[in-house]
Amino acid sequence: MAPALLAWHARHGRHDLPWQRNPTPYRVWVSEIMLQQTQVATVIGYFDRFMQRFPDPATLAAAPLDEVLHLWSGLGYYSRARNLHRAAQLVMTDHGGELPAAAATLATLPGIGRSTAAAIRALSAGECAAILDGNVRRVLARYFAVAGVTSQRAVQERLWELAEACTPGHDVAVYTQAIMDLGATICVRRRPLCPACPLEQGCSARRSGRQHELPTARPRVARRTRSVVMLLARQADGSVLLERRAERGVWGGLWCPPQFPSIEAARLFAETRLAAAEVEPQSRTIIRHAFTHFQLEISPLLASCTGWSGVMDGPPVLWYNPAKPERLGLPAPVSALIQSLS
Ligand code: SF4
Repeated sequence: MAPALLAWHARHGRHDLPWQRNPTPYRVWVSEIMLQQTQVATVIGYFDRFMQRFPDPATLAAAPLDEVLHLWSGLGYYSRARNLHRAAQLVMTDHGGELPAAAATLATLPGIGRSTAAAIRALSAGECAAILDGNVRRVLARYFAVAGVTSQRAVQERLWELAEACTPGHDVAVYTQAIMDLGATICVRRRPLCPACPLEQGCSARRSGRQHELPTARPRVARRTRSVVMLLARQADGSVLLERRAERGVWGGLWCPPQFPSIEAARLFAETRLAAAEVEPQSRTIIRHAFTHFQLEISPLLASCTGWSGVMDGPPVLWYNPAKPERLGLPAPVSALIQSLS
């Protein structure tokens, strides 16, 4: 595979991505984490802003988590940002401020798995380390006609063997970028562009017409729905009450309006905790947001008030003024909700 991929990449691969310029281990690491679950086109702007503010592990480690989550707001899968921050702190305390050079040591840091560790070493140092991210899994499963759900242990092991066997002893950085690019642009999940593929001749799935069946799809699990009421308590200057969510769980560490299981519970909170609260009789149009395992239905309930009626205990809270926004992590639907109020 390698010669065909290297030749294809020279003509058709992506050569001008921001993290390909000056590919230090730190820059490759941040890009690889951002690219998990997220398209290149979306990541570019986030990557540039992140690098401007946090050009090295030291700046990232020293920053408040709120600021890291602020620059991650809208990218989703926020545990990635929390792990990045935590790992940067460990790099400073345990590794002398440099990302470890051994892939196995890299893989001990939070959020860095075997494939990410290998990608960091291959792309930043040209080390012969095989990667197996989602794109590569798809290419290999099709090229070698490996059936079975790729999360199954035996299938994983087979794919790792193939990934290692295919990784060449030279030009590893280019090969790694090439196979990732092929998966992202040609051997795509739906309707792969086989006639444009440099691997078409040797591809088992293509030969047997099974490219649409491979890799084997995971059995579908019905997504459950979780319904919540968000209380949008607003003061006359437009500031909205937000509380910081616990670090574990959905939107961990981000700031959201207080959330309740029912309108009655939200109303009771407004009446007992807010000063001069006037709650709208009905919640506004439901907002739906899809997570991997469930769908969240948010009923926004508006209330005007003049602040707290007494001492506030519980999670950290603040009055967030969208006209003078603080650098906090806000989930995209919450950000849109707040903006819809102005
Ligand atoms: S020939 Fe088609 S299925 Fe096979 S690797 Fe290329 S794009 Fe994927």
